[in-house]
Amino acid sequence: MALNDYTGRAALTAVDLINSYDVMTGTDTLTSGNEAAALLRRRGWVVDRPVSAANLGRLRDLRPRLRFVFGNADVAKSVEDLNRLLRELQAQPQLTDHDGAWHWHYARPKAPLPERVATTCVMALLTVIAEGDAPRLKVCEGSDCANVFIDASRPGSRRFCDSKGCGNRAHVSAYRERKKHAASDDDMSY
Ligand SMILES: [Zn+2]
Ligand SMILES: [Zn+2]
Repeated sequence: MALNDYTGRAALTAVDLINSYDVMTGTDTLTSGNEAAALLRRRGWVVDRPVSAANLGRLRDLRPRLRFVFGNADVAKSVEDLNRLLRELQAQPQLTDHDGAWHWHYARPKAPLPERVATTCVMALLTVIAEGDAPRLKVCEGSDCANVFIDASRPGSRRFCDSKGCGNRAHVSAYRERKKHAASDDDMSY
């Protein structure tokens, strides 16, 4: 699966939004309109107006409603809840070429930013599921990490997010664990 197309960038917008709240520590990095605008711009969104406090709140409220899809083995439940969210948002798909290339807009015309972000993220996650890739929507297995990520590797066997070095830390502790066992095996022979 590719994450550099329109749907991929939208799915990664969902990932970034979700990970802006660290459920392990309660640390929230989405605390201002500027941070929200920067997060969205990094994923290709045009944010040409300051993000208001009300809209910041709506973006923050969206996070738990998207997070549950990651690492959820109950795909039917994920789909049911995402479909419900689409209905609440009154999504209204329209094809447009306002920026020179045909692409979908999913929100109602002139919908405020959080509504556009929400409909686009939900559609992207549903598209990933529709393509049979629900198992690639994962939660990091790092011991002190609950970041979500999309596993775009060919075998789909990634276990760790790539933003906090969780994979490296897990390797190091597995190595230490093996060494410890090796040492105690030696002790046994004496
Ligand atoms: Zn557009
Ligand atoms: Zn991690």
